Amino acid sequence: MMRQYELVERVAGYIDNPNEALLNQAYVYAMQKHGEQKRASGDPYFSHPLEVAAILTDLHLDEETIAVALLHDTIEDTDATRREIDDLFGERIGHLVEGLTKLKRLDLVTPEAKQAENLRRLLLAISDDIRVLLVKLSDRLHNMRTLGAMRPDKCKRIATETMEIYAPLAGRIGMQDLRDELEELSFRYINPEAHQTVIGHLQELAEKNKSLTIEISENLEKKLADAGIKARVSSRQKKPYSVFRKMESKGLNFGQLSDIYGFRIIVESLEDCYRTLGFVHMEWAMVPGRFKDYISVPKQNDYQSIHTTVVGPARQRVELQIRTEKMHKVAEFGIAAHASYKDGEEPALQSSAYQTLRETIEQLAEGDNPEEFLEHTKLELFLDQVFCFSPKGRIIALPKGATPIDFAYAVHTDIGNTCIGCKLNGKIMPVVTELQNGDEVEIIRSDKQTPPAAWESVVATGKARSSIRRASKQAVQKQYSTLGARILERAFAKADKPYSSELLEASLSRLARQSVNDVLTDIGRNEMLAENVILAVYPDYSPDGEGEENKPVKKGKDGKKPTRIPIRGINSDLPVKFSKEGGAVPGDNIVGILVRGEGITIYPSESKTLAQFKDEGAHLVDVRWDVSEKDKERFPARIKILVDNKPGSLAMIAEVIATHEGDIQNLSTKVVVDDFMEMEIDIDVWGLSHLTKIIKQLNSKPIVSKVERITG
Ligand code: MN
Repeated sequence: MMRQYELVERVAGYIDNPNEALLNQAYVYAMQKHGEQKRASGDPYFSHPLEVAAILTDLHLDEETIAVALLHDTIEDTDATRREIDDLFGERIGHLVEGLTKLKRLDLVTPEAKQAENLRRLLLAISDDIRVLLVKLSDRLHNMRTLGAMRPDKCKRIATETMEIYAPLAGRIGMQDLRDELEELSFRYINPEAHQTVIGHLQELAEKNKSLTIEISENLEKKLADAGIKARVSSRQKKPYSVFRKMESKGLNFGQLSDIYGFRIIVESLEDCYRTLGFVHMEWAMVPGRFKDYISVPKQNDYQSIHTTVVGPARQRVELQIRTEKMHKVAEFGIAAHASYKDGEEPALQSSAYQTLRETIEQLAEGDNPEEFLEHTKLELFLDQVFCFSPKGRIIALPKGATPIDFAYAVHTDIGNTCIGCKLNGKIMPVVTELQNGDEVEIIRSDKQTPPAAWESVVATGKARSSIRRASKQAVQKQYSTLGARILERAFAKADKPYSSELLEASLSRLARQSVNDVLTDIGRNEMLAENVILAVYPDYSPDGEGEENKPVKKGKDGKKPTRIPIRGINSDLPVKFSKEGGAVPGDNIVGILVRGEGITIYPSESKTLAQFKDEGAHLVDVRWDVSEKDKERFPARIKILVDNKPGSLAMIAEVIATHEGDIQNLSTKVVVDDFMEMEIDIDVWGLSHLTKIIKQLNSKPIVSKVERITG
């Protein structure tokens, strides 16, 4: 067991003039309180808080934290009280020890509801003072190191909890070594066979490549020295659990894994990091797509380093991490590297990892539904994240299962809202592809885009989901108000009255609406009549007996005919649909039917379906095509074909349509008599002349007896 003076010496190793009195007092107090207590292993109980304190000295923590570590089990396991600790050590230490006591009473692997509440308390305690977490993690680490004395089922339960909660938390605050060790120890108990297998493989490999790794290290160090860069090179082998996780997630066996080996190059300055990188890339071929610059863009947990993979001297892949001494310290100690807890100073304030963690916790703690809280926590904090890159190398951390759409929204709402496609690692891929760690994501955008509502169910982040909901709601709203404006312009022109939004503004009270936009939207939705608006603006206006639609359109004051509503495709600024009974294409004479809450449906004017609307009092609107070649938008049409009923007929029809750029959407066939087959085909075309050309081509085939267009 570590002696009192040894502990003080350790602290004095990194703090000038440490508060020895505090350390000594805490040592003696805890030792006396725990007295004859024994651990499951038979060791004196006091060895446990002492080891926890030792772990924290490895992390170079301040005297207060070390004292808290020594005292952390006294309230729970001895007759010590909060008041007594306050009196002896001050209120701040008392508060921290009490926080840890509460945490100790948590049994995180319990029924869901209680688990949620416990987890919440843990997180709140952490957000109160990060040192609680540092002590708790060290406490857990020591318990894991000495877990063997427990019953096997208990071991497995504690290991699972460690793997699911404490290891990710350690990672979250940048304490990579601590995380590695927690994972490694848990892995051993959770999956002993796999653990043994991986360890076996790794040892075999280490044996085989022993001289090689030494050679590479020395070689690198010497070559860098020749180039004038002072560097410390060390080799490291991947940890068993990270090897196992990689095998699991990629479905690989051990032999298929590359970069089991890595080298760490520690240099003196930031410039040397990049000089080393340049040197390494000149010397050996780099493996594309593996370069990551966490120096210019640190990870959320403050980690900084350059990562690259090269093809080494013996043709094997070698992963390199390049960083300065200072960055190395952060990489090893995470938040603890910022440990300068002077009296009265907020701890670790300069650590952005702590800030992020704290903010996340505060957000999570706002709601008061524990189930929901647990769900969020699991999603946002504990599930493994994927780290992806923008083409400029910016890192975006996303929850596992995230898509390029989530990525786009994480970068900026506007980028998400205008996203129409993406490139993953330089290749065009569907925007719903699940992102993998290290993917480089380039978002393809169009200002005309509105995010499809269906994306809502595809995305993995709350930010993307709510933004999509808002954007599609706004887009629909905008479509209706645009339609409303068009309808009003035309109605006013017909009535031969000037129209402007200022005039509307002045009449809002008479229309009982809050804003011009409300009026336009209601008109667009057909929830208000254009005539009422004219009456509101011009109270003395009297429409003559004739129905609006039958009244001849007069020319406006400027001599122009009032505009008909311009129709583009379904992705335009108006809520437009096309007849379900055969569509309509540019070139057709068309009529629009305004249906309450549904926008306009476009019919060719010869469509027989139109007759049914006469009786239902539907609202007819004058429309015209507003389509240009460059829009590259297709429109739906339906044709009926009578062909010889023999093998190959269908294929030939499909081929003719395809060669002439028709896009078949739907096809149904029925045999009319034995020799003839009738097909109905829905095709998307550019316009009437395109459709006519396809019909002509079909007609020219000997097997085709008749082709006609169906307009419903
Ligand atoms: Mn403990």
